Amino acid sequence: MASVQTPLSTLSRQRPDSLEAFWMPFTANRQFKAAPRLLVRAEGMYYHDVDDRPILDGAAGLWCCNAGHARPRIVQAIQEQAAQLDFAPPFQMGTPLPFVLAQRLAALAPASLNHVFFTNSGSEAVDSAMKIALGYHRLRGEGQRTRFIGREKAYHGVGFGGLSIGGLPNNRKAFGPLLAGSDFLRHTLDLSRNAFSPGLPRHGAELAEDLERLIALHDASTIAAVFVEPIAGSAGVILPAPGYLQRLREICDQHGILLVFDEVITGFGRVGNAFAAQRFGVTPDLLTMAKGLTNGAVPMGAVLVSDAIHSAYMQGPPGAIELFHGYTYSAHPLACAAALAALDTYAAEGLFDRAIELGEYWQTRLHSLRGLPNVIDIRNFGLIGAIELAARKDAPGSRGYEVFERCFRDGQLLVRCTGDVIALSPPLIIDTDQIDRIVDVLGEMIRATG
Ligand code: PMP
Repeated sequence: MASVQTPLSTLSRQRPDSLEAFWMPFTANRQFKAAPRLLVRAEGMYYHDVDDRPILDGAAGLWCCNAGHARPRIVQAIQEQAAQLDFAPPFQMGTPLPFVLAQRLAALAPASLNHVFFTNSGSEAVDSAMKIALGYHRLRGEGQRTRFIGREKAYHGVGFGGLSIGGLPNNRKAFGPLLAGSDFLRHTLDLSRNAFSPGLPRHGAELAEDLERLIALHDASTIAAVFVEPIAGSAGVILPAPGYLQRLREICDQHGILLVFDEVITGFGRVGNAFAAQRFGVTPDLLTMAKGLTNGAVPMGAVLVSDAIHSAYMQGPPGAIELFHGYTYSAHPLACAAALAALDTYAAEGLFDRAIELGEYWQTRLHSLRGLPNVIDIRNFGLIGAIELAARKDAPGSRGYEVFERCFRDGQLLVRCTGDVIALSPPLIIDTDQIDRIVDVLGEMIRATG
């Protein structure tokens, strides 16, 4: 047993003497604990594992660390804030930084999104956005608008709200009926028409008309909001055809339905603007974010809220609480400090432009993997990539997992696998040599996996 005297600096670098007590999230615990992959430190583009092997980060951790790891400005901001004010009650009390951060986020966002509600995660941001949408309709005398429309294969976190509008069957199946009344648009992945498209797929904009079908079925007057990830990440990178998101916006406008973009993975430069909303030229009514908000350094999520929604809440009777909702750690001082320092880092290094600057190189290199055994699609947009592998007949997901495992073990490369899709989202500080390395290692491991 490690004694309590063992310094934290040692504990954080060595293999724990037992792996039993920690029930790991979204992990096949038994499989992992038989052959654990332990990361102990990180800097720039690299993790180091417990054997001190450098591991190239092809995933920005988990779509989080857009500026890479251990960035001095962010480290210092967290340290200073922890020493100055560790925590303060967020209800009926304030601290300065969230006001500053909210203003900074509003300035980065599309023009009509000027108000920010802080959470601690993407899941909480999604559930908060759902509540904000419900309350908004009720405030306007349309309290019958309680239905949400999500999308097949969407991932909106693991809260009961986000699960209810999410479409990954494995995430839902153990948890009963969830929120009543949700329905789903089809997803936009169509390998029969779009396989190996460089950038956005050509076909599929017409799938937005699904929304008309659901409106006809349920009646617009029952629908509160449509939630979409502009680019779906967890389902294995599903891209929208040009015009698809615009069409959803038009239909929502025609029917008084709110449009919500879940930008938990697309925010903060991943696709070449602060948000995908700007890259695609479509402004939602609510926009959820997390991950890159603090460069992953401290948990934080947020909902950007339109002027129209916010002012509906502000016009209630004086003294009334406008939105009866919040978290003990909403706008936590450490998270705010980390977020402000992350935004400063992104701006100082022009990182939101990197996905455009490197986009073509990234695209060309990724698509060079076409023709390898079992590669059935390659997708890319901004600094996002996906290699889809053919599923093994009796073991779907096993080929993707094996490539992921080999990349880490033999190639010293961190990628993400979701089913048989290898998803890539490197820190935006990546250079062309590191892109080459990702592609070379992936090629080798895909060949070795067979
Ligand atoms: N929405 C999207 C689009 C996500 O990708 C994620 C996380 N991958 C979430 C919500 C949930 O975020 P969190 O894990 O911080 O709760």
